[in-house]
This record gives sequence, structure tokens and C-alpha cells, in this order.
Amino acid sequence: MQDRIVLQGILYDKKSSFLRGAGLAPPLIREAYQSDSANYFAENGMELRPEIFNDAGDFSIENYFDIEKITANNLAKNLPLITLGGDHSITYPIIKSFCNVYGPIEILHIDAHADLYEEFEGDKFSHACPFARIMENKLASRLVQVGVRTLSTHQREQAKKYDVEIVEMQNFSLNSIPKFIGPVYISLDIDALDPAFTPGVSHHEPGGLNTRQVIDIIQKIKAPIVGADIVEYNPTRDINDMTAMVCAKLLKEITSSILKNKSTV
Ligand code: MN
Ligand code: MN
Repeated sequence: MQDRIVLQGILYDKKSSFLRGAGLAPPLIREAYQSDSANYFAENGMELRPEIFNDAGDFSIENYFDIEKITANNLAKNLPLITLGGDHSITYPIIKSFCNVYGPIEILHIDAHADLYEEFEGDKFSHACPFARIMENKLASRLVQVGVRTLSTHQREQAKKYDVEIVEMQNFSLNSIPKFIGPVYISLDIDALDPAFTPGVSHHEPGGLNTRQVIDIIQKIKAPIVGADIVEYNPTRDINDMTAMVCAKLLKEITSSILKNKSTV
């Protein structure tokens, strides 16, 4: 099968404020994807064997800003690009590279947290800040956040300042998510899910999305998707690899949506 999507792993968790461990995730998500316990069929009927990916492998990061160059190199293959993280700080340099190729793009950000802090514990590039940097640098034409349930007063002000559209968890319904035109980028922080479904994350925030709801959100996007990331899976906190399997399932569903939406435009 001809590869149609580039995959890159970013082994980086130095900007995680509470715990390390997310930097170990990428090879474990790949391993779960290939687990004999499941097949390679997405729910829309596409069979997505590992060969569908042009796998660029995993990158150890010394300098945070190298993530932008690595992503630019992998985007030069002219294919959609999915990143396995890593803590959520990696999304800012990744989006910088996407913006250089596509211009400002629509971002669907699924997360328990808004990650809009102006700075966090003295670091403007903390995993609590990537979407403040993205909006401040005008890298997104639209930012829609879903699953958020931890808004501080400061982050509400930031959301207002940058016109961020937030579907808070307390008001969540599938129909409250706006329609996208595209190109769309999906940034999926795995702590958006309730810790009952994904215990392997650094920040357990109860009251979250279930796995079915996240799949429904992904399947509802009909616009072309040019990239995605799956971040914040922390294997040191996982139980029986259950979070790894959720990451693998969501990787499969995102991949099938990318291919499906591409073929209809
Ligand atoms: Mn996040
Ligand atoms: Mn989060």
C-alpha cells in the first residue's frame, strides 16, 4: 500500500510542569497500534495497516526550537503529518511549520485545559502556554477548544483577548462544535478524556469526555485535515496499556478521517 500520511514521534517532555513521562509515549503508541489484540480497520471501513504511514521515526529533542525544523522537513514530503508526543508544548513549533506551508489554519484543540497561559512558572513555552503563543503569532485562523474544564480567570481573559471559541465540558454537546472549512489541524491532548478512560496522563482531571465522544468529534469533521497531534500520554501512569490502546484507536480514526475527507474534496 502506498503511504499517504507522514508520522513523526517527538520524544520530549521537558516543558511538562507537573510530571515527566510523556516523552516515552511515541514508540508505545506505535506498539499498541500494531497489537494483535485489534485489527487495522477504522470504523468507516478503511483498512489502515502500518504501511499507510510514511514513518519518519522518533526524534530526541535537545533544543525545543528544533521541533519546528524537524516538522518542516517532514512536511516537505507534501503529505498530511501526524505527530505523536510528547508534552503539549510541542504543538506551538509544529503549528509554526504548518503555518509556513498552509498559512493560518483552523485548529480543533481537544483538551481538559485551555493551555492559554501567558507564561507558566516563568516559561512562555510551557505545556500550559502553546495556544497563547499560537494566537499571539496569528498562526491560526480559528481556534476551537473542546472538553475544557479547568478555566482560570486569567485563561478566560486570554480566550476573550484571542477570540478563542471554547466548548466547555459543562456545556458539551456534539452539536455545539462549529463546522470547519479547512484546512484543519487537530491537537488532541489525551487528558481531555476522563481519567477513567485514559489513566495514563500527568494531569487527572475528572469529568471529561469518554472515548466514544472523542471518536464522534473526529468523525464529525467533514473538512480537509492536514495534520494532527496526539500528546500528553504518560506511560508511567498507565494501567494495562489501556491509555496506549485509546491513543492507537484515536490515531486510526484520525487517519481514516484525513484520508476520507481528502478524497471527497
Ligand atoms: Mn494540553
Ligand atoms: Mn491537558
